[in-house]
Amino acid sequence: MAKQPMLKFVQIERDMPAKRDASERREDFHEIYAEYAKAKAEEQASRCSQCGVPYCQSHCPLQNNIPDWLRMTATGRLQEAYEISQATNTFPEICGRICPQDRLCEGNCVIEQSGHGTVTIGSVEKYITDTAWEEGWVQPAAPAVERAESVGIIGAGPGGLAAADMLRRAGVQVTVYDRYDRAGGLLTYGIPGFKLEKDVVMRRNELLEKGGVTFVLNCNIGEDMSFDDLRKKHDAIIIATGVYKSRDLGGPGSGADGIEKAIDFLTASNRKSFGDAVEDFDNGRLNAAGKKVVVIGGGDTAMDCVRTSIRQGATSVKCLYRRDRANMPGSQREVANAEEEGVVFEWLSAPKGFATKGDKVSGVRVRHTGTGEEHDIECAGLFLAIGHTPNTSQVKGQLDMDDAGYLITTPGRSFTSVEGVFAAGDVQDTVYRQAITAAGSGCAAAMDCEKWLEEQDA
Ligand code: NAP
Repeated sequence: MAKQPMLKFVQIERDMPAKRDASERREDFHEIYAEYAKAKAEEQASRCSQCGVPYCQSHCPLQNNIPDWLRMTATGRLQEAYEISQATNTFPEICGRICPQDRLCEGNCVIEQSGHGTVTIGSVEKYITDTAWEEGWVQPAAPAVERAESVGIIGAGPGGLAAADMLRRAGVQVTVYDRYDRAGGLLTYGIPGFKLEKDVVMRRNELLEKGGVTFVLNCNIGEDMSFDDLRKKHDAIIIATGVYKSRDLGGPGSGADGIEKAIDFLTASNRKSFGDAVEDFDNGRLNAAGKKVVVIGGGDTAMDCVRTSIRQGATSVKCLYRRDRANMPGSQREVANAEEEGVVFEWLSAPKGFATKGDKVSGVRVRHTGTGEEHDIECAGLFLAIGHTPNTSQVKGQLDMDDAGYLITTPGRSFTSVEGVFAAGDVQDTVYRQAITAAGSGCAAAMDCEKWLEEQDA
């Protein structure tokens, strides 16, 4: 009888790839996790219990066929593992790095529920695709038939890129417009290099380009080209502009210098990593070096800000969150990484106002949300990471949207109120906002769009 290659979770313990020491990783913006060696990836993949109804897959926004690519990895059939993985995912190596697996696939792994520690799905996914790149298995889209229909996609973030990829695979002509100078959206300018090194994103953009996707960068639809003109250029439009409008905090002192939006801070830091000239970094405005820093918020953006501040050389970094650790939206893995790197968390702490010296912020008044007691924290740099809403002003009055600016789509689908215009990613009001959910929604929009195009041709 053939040896059973899987279900090894009883004999083999969960083992994540090694993590660089905190004292070393504080000094740079490189990723912190090492890659599995081949034998380790095979061993860890073999722990999968190959469930008949795989909850890892059903809880993946892309419905990735995880049990099958784990089995292929465990049995040394890595190229097939890659083929299965990429069939549903435009960028598996990115998801392997930044998905909150603890809440999605790994969080629903059955062996975890039986106390054995989840299969390390994200790390194996990263290993498979990094190897595929090294081996030359990652190839640009090569559609069997070129189609005449043309789709314009606004937004080159994960939702737009996934939609572009799926449409190109089907032979549709695709142009992606983005107001930034590089494609990738928050993958490029939001998420720091220590979670996702930038060459990983850039090579994906290049691959899409090689596969026939046209990028029109530095093009802000609504300013550089009107939405109406864009519609005239294409048979259909997909809007995937994400959520970029930062929420603000009112209260005394809230307009002081030194209080900055998280997205501006992270974008400046990522631009520096690309080697760009960034005036507001160089003049200290968007630079944490030498400052006592406070970050407000308990989401993943706040985690990115605190860990970026550490790497920039802040003298101290505190994160204020109004609820407790168990109820924060940010990933627990990131909190642990931040604590190791020297970040101090103040739980149950809500900002009440800001102290200033001249025009500059010098502190924040904090109210304990349990006891109601108040105290002050000194700071010279304060980053607000309290969430975002969409900026859909370029289509206001043309497409139905709610009061916050989220585009209204047919329930469970991506049709907007205007025929031939679709929405993908966070620009629709989704409960869960991740690169992978945006990618899932991008794929769904591509399918709706492709079907709609076919109906027009019929
Ligand atoms: P978020 O998850 O909505 O977090 C915003 C935080 O701000 C929440 O903790 C919220 O507190 C707090 N907040 C809101 N209003 C506040 C106020 N008036 N006073 C004090 N605190 C306030 O937003 P985000 O961190 O920008 O993340 C957005 C999405 O992007 C999330 O799904 C996140 O996981 C994702 N993301 C992913 C990555 C990645 O690497 N995978 C990186 C960045 C972001 P409450 O919790 O109490 O509401």
